[in-house]
Amino acid sequence: MTKVEALKQRLARIWSLIVGLKVTGTFFVSPQITVHYPRQTVRNMETFHGPVELVPRPDDPAKPRCIVCMQCVSACPSKCLSVVPKPQPRASAEGQEAHPKPAEAKGDKAAKKPAAKEPLKFMYDFTLCSLCGTCVETCPVGSLRFSHDAYLAGPDKAAFVYDLLARLAGQAAAGCGRAEDKGSARVDDRGAKGGV
Ligand code: SF4
Ligand code: SF4
Repeated sequence: MTKVEALKQRLARIWSLIVGLKVTGTFFVSPQITVHYPRQTVRNMETFHGPVELVPRPDDPAKPRCIVCMQCVSACPSKCLSVVPKPQPRASAEGQEAHPKPAEAKGDKAAKKPAAKEPLKFMYDFTLCSLCGTCVETCPVGSLRFSHDAYLAGPDKAAFVYDLLARLAGQAAAGCGRAEDKGSARVDDRGAKGGV
């Protein structure tokens, strides 16, 4: 290699260094677009699909809209969901006397209308969930949705098997439901970690 070629090579390396420093300097003085997690978290999570959660009733944020139809359980391809219905109150003998058969025969639907079904347990294994959204789309009463919870951590797999009723009750108690949930104001989705 001649002296001229060696000089050209050195100049090329110095120029490469200058270009690199220019890029670094540009981003060094640009406004910061990242946050110092975990001290800071981002708030633009409205479109993020986190673990599935229950949607509260408009009149009672601690209870889900769920009517225990079991369609989500059947539709889930990964068998993540298990729902146990709350036992229905049985009419006592006295109660049956108070509503004798002739009233039903006349079409008195109010007399034989069963109590609304609600879940006793609603478990969700997030370790199996593919976030496919089938359960959300299948629910006939809109009782399931994706949460916006992106900050998940746990010591083992069991920490990701969620009691969705407990989560909903925790959200209601903390007043950290979503803005669209009537009767509760959204504060921070991370506040909903009580159950999840
Ligand atoms: S999102 Fe898909 S995989 Fe997850 S619970 Fe719903 S149906 Fe199952
Ligand atoms: S969440 Fe919806 S689909 Fe699932 S059992 Fe309840 S009402 Fe049925």
